[in-house]
Amino acid sequence: MLRVALNLIVKQFTVSKDNPELVKAQFMHFATQVPIMYSVLLINTWALAINYYGAAPNWLSIYAPSVFAVICIVRMTNWLKQRKSTPQFEKAHATLVRTNKLAGIFTLMLTAWSLLLYPYGDIYMQAHVAFFMAITGVGVIICMQQLRSAAFIIALSVNIPFAIFFGTSGIASFVIIAGNMALVTIALVTVTVVQSRAFADTIDSQIKLELANKENEKLANLDSLTGLTNRRQFFTKLQEEFRIAEREDKRLAVGIIDLNGFKLVNDHYGHAFGDSLLMEVGARLEELSSKNVSISRLGGDEFALVISDNNSDEQLKEMGQQIRDALSVPFVAAEITVQISGSIGFAVYPYLAKTSLELYERADYALYQSKNIHNGEVVVFTERHILEIEANTKTEYVMSKADLDKEIVVYFQPIIDIHSSRTVAFEALARWESPVLGKVSPADFIPIAEKTGLINKLTQVLLKKSLAMAATWPEGIKLSFNLSTHDINSPQAVREIMNIIQSHGFDPSRIDLEITETAAMRDFDQAKSSVKILKSLGCGIVLDDFGTGFSSLSHLHALPLTKIKIDRSFVSNIDTVPASFKIVKSLLSLSRDMGLLCVVEGVETQEELSVIESLGGQLVQGYFFSAPISEIEIDGFLQETALPKRA
Ligand code: C2E
Ligand code: CA
Ligand code: CA
Repeated sequence: MLRVALNLIVKQFTVSKDNPELVKAQFMHFATQVPIMYSVLLINTWALAINYYGAAPNWLSIYAPSVFAVICIVRMTNWLKQRKSTPQFEKAHATLVRTNKLAGIFTLMLTAWSLLLYPYGDIYMQAHVAFFMAITGVGVIICMQQLRSAAFIIALSVNIPFAIFFGTSGIASFVIIAGNMALVTIALVTVTVVQSRAFADTIDSQIKLELANKENEKLANLDSLTGLTNRRQFFTKLQEEFRIAEREDKRLAVGIIDLNGFKLVNDHYGHAFGDSLLMEVGARLEELSSKNVSISRLGGDEFALVISDNNSDEQLKEMGQQIRDALSVPFVAAEITVQISGSIGFAVYPYLAKTSLELYERADYALYQSKNIHNGEVVVFTERHILEIEANTKTEYVMSKADLDKEIVVYFQPIIDIHSSRTVAFEALARWESPVLGKVSPADFIPIAEKTGLINKLTQVLLKKSLAMAATWPEGIKLSFNLSTHDINSPQAVREIMNIIQSHGFDPSRIDLEITETAAMRDFDQAKSSVKILKSLGCGIVLDDFGTGFSSLSHLHALPLTKIKIDRSFVSNIDTVPASFKIVKSLLSLSRDMGLLCVVEGVETQEELSVIESLGGQLVQGYFFSAPISEIEIDGFLQETALPKRA
């Protein structure tokens, strides 16, 4: 019991270590009051010293206060330096402990000094000693409000000697003053206790607020699904790293990852499954992160990397491949197994990207290339892409001003039945003969027309021209016509296409509409309903570029297809590349199993044709038979033997 009480008392006189933040705040607060406190001490000391000058010996009235003044000034400047920045807890604590000790030592020193002066003065000068001790004690305690322990030490170091000395002086006025002083000190100490508690509470709530703010900030920067940093934090991080790269003249890379086929999985298996897949993707990517590689989820199925440690494009490509490998490991959840893949684009500072935003945009461009042109292969943004972008911008501008009705013409490429050796159809292929740019390839201007929204109008122009031409062909020959993503994803565009077909009078059963796998997968439900409507007119539906997209068999089954076209990337060198051979073989047997006709595109050589024939291919198209030809060449082509170049 006694020990507890003793501990409690000792605690009042020591600087607590329990709350580091409080100690630091006390330090900062105290640091602003210290100069005031030392000023009070200096003024009071010198007022008393001057009063005793001549009456007391010099060592008491001049030298002792001078030494004290020097100590005060040194301490004061010390504190003035320290208050500029918040110190570490240990340092703040040590300083406050020292202050505690010094408070006791200084008070006792000044008390002793003033009491030593006392005998040399007359009664008025002695009253000054009492006044000095009282006013200095009160002043200093007020300055020490935030450091309760020091205030206590001072209160005792002043009041005990004061009470003993003046209380026993036998002079009534001094005895009354001693009592008065004791009462005022008690009041002051009480105020100090209340104040220091209030101060501790304020600091406490400040700390809690800061913690809550930090937590909020953390949450605001995190993606709640994957736990990765979010889009906002990605851009913050990118800017930070960009500044460092600029300053230190270092490489900085941004990578953007987009999952292939995620939308299909999400639509097919439901959002809960999609979410768990994204979480798993997040976890797999997280494993590849490090001090120099930070990974964020930008939203949906898009993720991004900021890579501060990369020496070469090769290293980036390697990392990209590592990510692709990690993503292509099958996902298993709720007894469902799916396999997806990722497309990845990188851009590098300082090579070809001068600002952080440019770095991001160029990585995004590289991603677009990866996804749409390179089948998901890792793409690093290069000079070639800059030229491409410039050319596209120009094409875009010229196209917006062009008279499409006049400048766009249609070429036709025959599709041949190798069993009957006859042309069974012509595929309509757009050609733009621009007075400004010359001949522009559809591979260049179709994507631009899609981007600018001109494609729907372009499709209508092309369809009208193609139908007019097809009407002049012999009965058995069909027209194969390409629709773009935007055509089948817009009900309005589908209505326009229907109107043109119906009003034209050309037999719809002689029209095959080609849609690419990627176009069908963009918004599968919309594409499905568009395709159904067009099929109900009597048109055939052809899946173009088969094998290059990311669709699944179940989706293909859900579309009312009549034909598929095997992409020419599988056909080139089919006679020498075993992988191509295997793919074409299985695609041909797949189409047979599905009861669909199959056109093999891009046949360029006799060798390729022979392989396709041996695999049971029947419908073929390619330069080996004919490049796309103009409408006036069609008659001539049909009049010649059906397979003019065949050996
Ligand atoms: P696609 O629909 O896959 O058309 C086949 C492309 O392959 C055509 O290129 C054709 O000229 C080319 N080709 C045919 N046989 C061979 C061959 O043996 N070897 C090689 N290397 N190429 C061959 P083109 O005409 O340049 O068209 C490129 C793409 O532009 C088309 O690919 C299609 O996606 C798009 N396109 C063309 N015309 C239209 C159109 O009227 N509407 C829409 N939406 N897209 C079109
Ligand atoms: Ca086509
Ligand atoms: Ca094609």
